[in-house]
This record gives sequence, C-alpha cells and structure tokens, in this order.
Amino acid sequence: MAIATNLGFPRIGAKRELKWQLEKYWQGKIGAEALLAGAAEVRETNWQWQAEAGITQIPVGDFSLYDHVLDWAIRVGAVPGAYQNGKLVSHLDRYFAMARGSQQGVDLPAMEMTKWFNTNYHYIVPEWSVEQTFHLDADAFLQDIAAAQQVSPAARPVVLGPVSLLLLGKLKDSEASPLVLLDRLLPVYEQLLQRLNAAGCKWVQWDEPVLALDLDLATQEALRHSLQQLSGSLGNVKLVLTSYFESLRENLPLAFELPVSAVHLDLVYGPEQLAEALRYVRDGQSLSLGLIDGRNVWRTDLTKALAQAETAAEAIGSDRLLIAPSCSLLHSPVDLAAETEIDDEVKSWLAFARQKLDEITTITTALNSGRAAVAETLALNAGALETRRTSIRTHNPAIRDRVAAISPANLKRTGDYTVRQSQQRARLKLPPLPTTTIGSFPQTAAVRQARAAFRKGELPAEQYRQFLETETEACIRRQEALGLDVLVHGEFERNDMVEYFGEQLEGFVVSKNGWVQSYGSRCVKPPIIFGDIHRLSAMTVPMAQYAQSLTDRPVKGMLTGPVTILCWSFVRDDQPRWVTCQQIALAIREESIDLEQAGIGVIQIDEPALREGLPLRKSDQTDYLAWAVDAFRLASSGIRDETQIHTHMCYCEFNEILPAIAALDADVISIETSRSQMELLDGFVEFRYPNEIGPGVYDIHSPRVPATTEMVGLLKKAVEVIPAERLWVNPDCGLKTRGWPEVEAALRAMVEAAQEVRSLL
Ligand code: GLN
Ligand code: ZN
Repeated sequence: MAIATNLGFPRIGAKRELKWQLEKYWQGKIGAEALLAGAAEVRETNWQWQAEAGITQIPVGDFSLYDHVLDWAIRVGAVPGAYQNGKLVSHLDRYFAMARGSQQGVDLPAMEMTKWFNTNYHYIVPEWSVEQTFHLDADAFLQDIAAAQQVSPAARPVVLGPVSLLLLGKLKDSEASPLVLLDRLLPVYEQLLQRLNAAGCKWVQWDEPVLALDLDLATQEALRHSLQQLSGSLGNVKLVLTSYFESLRENLPLAFELPVSAVHLDLVYGPEQLAEALRYVRDGQSLSLGLIDGRNVWRTDLTKALAQAETAAEAIGSDRLLIAPSCSLLHSPVDLAAETEIDDEVKSWLAFARQKLDEITTITTALNSGRAAVAETLALNAGALETRRTSIRTHNPAIRDRVAAISPANLKRTGDYTVRQSQQRARLKLPPLPTTTIGSFPQTAAVRQARAAFRKGELPAEQYRQFLETETEACIRRQEALGLDVLVHGEFERNDMVEYFGEQLEGFVVSKNGWVQSYGSRCVKPPIIFGDIHRLSAMTVPMAQYAQSLTDRPVKGMLTGPVTILCWSFVRDDQPRWVTCQQIALAIREESIDLEQAGIGVIQIDEPALREGLPLRKSDQTDYLAWAVDAFRLASSGIRDETQIHTHMCYCEFNEILPAIAALDADVISIETSRSQMELLDGFVEFRYPNEIGPGVYDIHSPRVPATTEMVGLLKKAVEVIPAERLWVNPDCGLKTRGWPEVEAALRAMVEAAQEVRSLL
C-alpha cells in the first residue's frame, strides 16, 4: 500500500491565529500560558485536518512559535552566550530574545535572519562558535510527538538534519566551514534517534535541504559521514531523506547511496528526475513522490501526477511509495474555502494547503484501490483544468500577439547613458548631490483607517480620493519645506507595492485570506497571477500628475518592476516564468509611457526582488538574469531620453549580480548601503558601474535619527570613490513604516549633510 504523507503544514492558522496570539503576548496583553495554549490549538487543528483528509504520516515538529531553524538551534543546545543571560528568566523570554531582540531588563539585538532558500520565508541564522558544545534539549519535541500520535499513530517527526543545520548557520570567529563542528554535533542526533525509537516512531523525515544546492566535496562527504555514523542508532526508525525546491540532479546518486529507507523527490520542480531515481533506488528503499506543489496555489493535474505515481508503482511496487507534496505546505495559504472574493472560475483552478491534502489522498487511493475508486474526483479535476487551459483569460491572443511583436529595439533607450544624462540635466536642473527619497512616506493610522474604510465600502470613492489628495499635498509641502530636490507623492494609496498593481492588472486576483508566513508573526499575501496580463487603464498617473501639479520641483512617478511583481506573486505554472514576466513588463512599459506623457520627468521602477529570484543552481542563473534584465529594460525603454529612469534595490548582496544591475541601464539606482558603512559601494567602484548611484545614507529600519555629521561622513566616503556628479543622496528604503517626527528630523539632517558636502566640492 502506498502511504499518504505530508512534509509540513502552515503554522500561522487559517485566520492567522498564531500571529494574533504572538503579538498579544509580545505586547504583554496575554501570558505565556495563553500563548502556548493558543499555539497548541493551532497545532492540534492542523493535525486533525490532516488526519481527517486521510494523511497517515502527519508531520510533527514542523510547527514553530517563530521559526523551525531557531527551534533546532535550541534543540541541539546552541544558545549563543549573550542570550544565556540570567535576566532572561523563562525559556520563552530567551527564545523571543533570540528571534527578535529584547529590551526588557537586557538590551539584546535579534539574531540574524535570512531567506529560506529561494522562498519568501525567513529563518533565524544559527550562530556557532569555535568552542561550540551541544546537548539535546528535546523534551518539548517528544511531548509534541506523543500528542500527534494520539491523532495519528503513524505521525512522522520532522528533523532538520545535522549537515543542513550547520550550513544554514554561521561560524563566528573563524573562516572555517561550520562542518568542522559535525563530529561534536552527531552524538546529539544519536541521542535524538534513540528517543524517537523509544517513542515508537516508525518513519522520520530527515530534512537535508542542502541537497537542492550545488554541493562541494566536503558537504557530500559530510552527508555520507553523518548518516553512516547515525545508522547505528536507528533501531526501528526508518529515515526518509528530504530536500525540495529543485531537482537533485548530480546529487541524486549520492542521495540514494546514503543509508536511508526512502528518498524524497520534488517532482514539481524536477519531474524529469523520476526516471533516474527509479534506476538508482536500491532494493528495499522507498520513494517519496513530491507530486503536489507545496509552494504555489494551483490545483494539481491529478491525472498527470497519478501517471507518474503509476510509473513508479510499476517499477518498484506501490508498497514502496510515499505520496507527498513537493515541499512543506508552509509556503501555501491555508484554506481556499475561506476565499469569498475570488470568482468561481479562477477558484476552480486553485488549491490551498487543505485542498492539497485531499489531492495527496486522492492519488494515494487511486494507487491503492485503482482509478475507479476516485473516478469522480479525477473527472472534476480534469474538467477544471480543461477550463483553465482553454479560457480566454489564460490565453488571450491579442496579448500574446503584442508580446510576440517585442523586438530588440524595444529593450533599448534611444540614446546611450551620456546622451541621456546631458538631456536630463538640461531638463531637471538639479544641484550636485541631489536629494530624494525612495517613495513611501509614513502610513499613519489615519491613512490605514481610510483605506480600510474605503475597502469595506464605508468611505465613498470620491471622499477617499480627496483624503489621498490631502495627504499627498501635505507630503509635498513637507518635502518642499525640507528642501528635497526630487519629490515623491508618498504612496498613501498603496497597501503594498505589489498587491497595488495586482489589484489593477488583468490576469491577477487578490485573495482575502491567502496569507503565508514570511517570518515570525509577519505574513504576506501574494496576489495570484492566473492569466494573461494586461493593463486596462492607467494605474498611477492621476496621483503622480496631481502631485506634480502642486510643485515646481520634479516629482518621481513610482512603479514596481516586473521581476519584483513576479517574485512576490503566486505565478501561473502553465508557462515559463519569463513569459509571465514579459507580460508584466509590457504593462509597466505602457504605464511609464503614460506617466511621461502626463509630464512626469522622473520615473522610478523598483526592483528590490531582482536578487531574490536567482535560481538555486549556478548553472541556471545566467539564463534568469538575462530574462530578468530584459524585462526591466522592456519596462523602462519606451520613454524619451530626457526622462530619467530610477530604480531601487534593497535586501541585496549586490556584488554577485553587478553585471546584471549595470545591464538594467537605469539612469539612477538607489541602494541600501548605510548599514555596511558604504562598503557595499566598493563592488560598484571595482566594477566601474557607469551610471548614477544613490547609496542609502541612513537606515530606515530603525526609528533612530542619524546625526548630520554621521551622514556627512558617509557621503565623504562615497565622494572619494564615485565622482560627485554621479552621486545622489537618499535614505536606504521607503519610509512607510516610520513616524513623521523621526522622518522629518532624519530628512532635515540628510539635506543638511548634502548641502555641507556640496559646499566642499
Ligand atoms: N517605493 C517603495 C517604497 O518606498 C520601495 C519599497 C522597497 O524597496 N521594498 O516603499
Ligand atoms: Zn527598499
């Protein structure tokens, strides 16, 4: 019999219950007991849902109060010295101090956080020291296992394997790889396996997600060594080795060679690897078939997925199959049934986490009892997919023709940078080191309330428009008073830089409850791209035009770039990503042309997610960067030379993608640099980045108001390495999360700093 399994379920709760509980706890409105009870309820509900859907091996240990990597660091006893402070009395105090810093009794920064592979989930980076010792701290984990076994006796613990755990962290005070600690860490995993064995666990999910990456020899050897050493402690426990988000590719033979009872394959991102896996699977080894997309929202083509499962069953027998999602469902929204505003047609094409559970069991049942047992489900599924394939909303010939007509000339501005620069200077007449901001200004309670009221239909459209105009006008006046050179309208009408465009473009739907955890209690609600994208009417022109009408200074038009819209949406899976990106780019191109026609002389196209879209494997990266750059160029090249294109990037290790950044050929780029004391500029200097740069001179992520002298210092550093005539002065990122008092104080100091450095030129 094939077994229905799952790799992980969203933790945040269908109504984001965990989020609300956590935030109340942090505000001191509820105590630890209430928080833990609330969390237990979400966890129990998740298990119940999975068991009711027919999942036999329900995951346990996938849940977390904040982040599972942090949980594992603590579980192996790796609490950095600073957090062992006696003033952090309870376990929870310490946990949240590590996760998000503490200012109660002790002043501790949060640990570093970074992206989980190529997803938008962020994990806490474990901190290892050369002196690191480890000990097992797994009592709570074992209690959870016992609780899950009450719901389903075959509950399957999820363990983050030692090699990935070490490599996800950073070794302080040493250039060596964290893998030097492996032999010290393995005894802890030995003890853990013994306890899992004693708890009666039959299968354990052994996550080694690094298998999805390019692996050096040392890591390959570490995987072999760790599993060989641990195989002595397995007892009756069987390991299913899991990795996801990619094909195993050249790591596939290694995965099957390891002493594990099953290997999981992400067949959504690497369907081609099944054939090879069937050649490599050893006698007695099972396969976990990741057939359901764990990180997107599409209904699975069950007939196709089942055909893959049947191929595997014919080759090795269904007894050796585990049916699974491609990865943990952590990256999916919880329940499609809660969506009231997505139209029925599009809804019939979608599946969120709970619906994906049903898909897993349908495939399992079909394998075990024959297709006839699920004939009706398969027919319904095929019908829905057929409407998706043939709908004019997904295949609009007019849009396809327009995309096909794109020529290389559309990807290039008319003049080269020097020609454009002199025309733009003549038009804009800016001082040296011009000052500007990144786009958004504080989203005050009043702004958020008005937007919410408008959405609920409580505030009439006309009144809402007037409200936005009043806010915009006040914002323009404040910028004039501060003496900024290039102004912005403030983005008060935008809830989110991607959703705002998703709401207006054809081919997108916006869900009401499709939240996905980003980090801790923070969730994002990516819009869903289901069809061919086009622009019905101008999206940003009226507001930009209004703002420009208020002032003689240039006002920047604000657009989100095609790659960022793509990366921060759920993207259709029935065509390559670059095709979708091209359609978005065309819509943004039209918008920029309209802005220009409306008299806007400076247009900013933000691409903060350019780096994030980079594929996990090096060999795929060149291709991605080529089409991503083309998409930006398509979006930004429809305008005349005298119109200035800005772009903005943050959260980014720029150096590795500098050639691509230069190839965007934006007239001006603003980047995040202040936290690195301008060191990030070095790459641009070395690379001889040709166009204008605005290195962020202060960190907007903190309420702290920087002193003028501090920013003068940073600007002097910048002027030393980049000619002053190519430098701009701006903060690191948008100001929407800040309050007006600190924003005004900081910008006043910033303008002063620019003036001071100008006078030295
Ligand atoms: N224009 C956007 C803003 O200022 C840019 C945000 C971002 O880079 N993440 O909010
Ligand atoms: Zn930014």
